[in-house]
Amino acid sequence: MTWRLPRSAVYDRGTAVFGEEDALQRLPTSDRILRFEEALAVVQRHAQTARNAQQVETVGLRNAAGRVLARAVAADREQPPFDRATRDGYAVRAADVGGAATAGLRVVGSLRAGERWSGAPMGEGEAIEIMTGAAVPDGADAVVMVEHTTLEDGWLRVTREMRVGENVVPRAAETRAGAVVLPEGCLLEAAEIGVAASCGRSQLEVFARPRVAIATTGDELVELNEPMEDAQIRNSNSYALAALVDASGGVAEPLAIARDCVEELEARVVEGREADLLLFTGGVSMGKYDLVEQVLGEFGAEFFFTGALIQPGKPVVFGRLPKSNGLNPGGWTYFFGLPGNPVSAQICFRLFASAMVHALGGRTAVGPRFVEARLAVAVPGGSRLTRFLPVRVEGTWEGVTARVVGWQGSGDVVANARADGYVVLPAGVEAFAVGETVRVLLR
Ligand code: AMP
Ligand code: MG
Repeated sequence: MTWRLPRSAVYDRGTAVFGEEDALQRLPTSDRILRFEEALAVVQRHAQTARNAQQVETVGLRNAAGRVLARAVAADREQPPFDRATRDGYAVRAADVGGAATAGLRVVGSLRAGERWSGAPMGEGEAIEIMTGAAVPDGADAVVMVEHTTLEDGWLRVTREMRVGENVVPRAAETRAGAVVLPEGCLLEAAEIGVAASCGRSQLEVFARPRVAIATTGDELVELNEPMEDAQIRNSNSYALAALVDASGGVAEPLAIARDCVEELEARVVEGREADLLLFTGGVSMGKYDLVEQVLGEFGAEFFFTGALIQPGKPVVFGRLPKSNGLNPGGWTYFFGLPGNPVSAQICFRLFASAMVHALGGRTAVGPRFVEARLAVAVPGGSRLTRFLPVRVEGTWEGVTARVVGWQGSGDVVANARADGYVVLPAGVEAFAVGETVRVLLR
C-alpha cells in the first residue's frame, strides 16, 4: 500500500507560506516541504503503520529495562490479595471510636505483614494491633494510625473520628486476577519491572531491537583514529547518532563514511536498506555535492517529505526504500536524510527519527516529548520557520524556566552539550518575551 500525502500538506516553491524565498528558490517544484507540525504528523502516521510484525524474544527480568513488552502481562492474582492495612496502628470498627464512643477498646491480638488473623472475627469494642501491609482481620473496617491512639493497661483510646475504610486498600482494588497490568508495546522501566515482579514474572517477552544503519557522508570527514588536515572534520555524527539510536531502543550499525560520490552512496544504500531503518547524515542540502536524495531516488525511494520549515534542519528528508528483494515481499526500509551539521542532525533525530526507532521497536507511545516552560530571556522572532534553540532548563519552586544558551549555530557541538533541551519557537511569531510560556523538547 502506498501512503500518499494529502495535497494540502504539500508546499512547493511559490506557495505563500514560504517567505524564505532565497533558500527555497533552488528547490525543484516536486519537492515536498512541510510545515513542522505536518512533518511531525506524517512521521507519526508512518510510525503507527510500521509498528507490526516485530520479532519477539524472551529476556530475564534483570535484563528487561529499556526493552519493549511484546506480550501483555496479566495479574496472576488480585492486588491486593486481601484488605491491606496502609499504616501501622490498630484494626478497629469505625463506629466504635470517636465522637460519643469514648470508651477504650480491648486489644485482642497483634498482626504483622505476611500474617493472617486466625482468631474469631473481631467483635464490637475490640481492636487488633496491625502493621503496614498486613491483612485487615474480619470484623474490622478501618485502621487507626498508632499516632492517633493511646494505650493504658491494655485499653486503647482513639483520639479522633474514623471513617469506614480509612487506611485500608480493599482486596482487588488495584487489580483483579487476570486483568492486564502491563500492555503490549509499553517501555519497560523501573515501574513496569516492579509490576512484572509483583506478578511473579521472572522472564518477559520483548520485541527485538530494531537495527538502525547510520551512513555518514562527506569528503571532508575523517574517522577518529585517522590523521587529519586542518580543513578536515571529525565524523562526530556517527557517534552522537549511535548514542541517540541506542537511547531510543535501537541497535546502531554505523557504516563506513561515504565520500560525496554516487558510487559510495549507492554502496551505503545497498548495505543500509537491509537494516530496519537507515539514517543518512549530510549531503541533503542544496550544494553541488549533496547527492543523497538523487541516489535514494535511483533505488526507487518513495519520499514523504524532502524538507521541513524548521531551523535548524530544513533539508531533512523522510521516505522509504524497497528492500533488495525484487518483488518487495520483504517490505520497506524507512530512511531519513539528516542534515550534516551535528546539532541539526541531532535535533532532526529527536524530532522525527526517534519516533520511527520507537515504533520499529514495537513501542506504542512514539516520538518526542515536549514540556512547557517560561522563557528566562527574551528571544527575537519573526521567522517563517519553526526554530529550535538550545536551552538550559531550570526547575525551581517557582516553576520551570528555559534559558537560551549562546551558540554559534548548528555546527556548535560544544554549546549543544551545555544545553539540556531545545526551545520551540513557532513560525510567524514576532517576538518572544521574558516569562512567556514556550514548549521545550527535552534532551
Ligand atoms: P552537509 O549537510 O553535508 O552540507 O554538511 C553540513 C556541515 O556538517 C558541514 O560543515 C560538514 O562538515 C558537517 N558534517 C557533515 N557530516 C558530519 C559528520 N558526520 N560529523 C561531523 N560533522 C559533519
Ligand atoms: Mg556534505
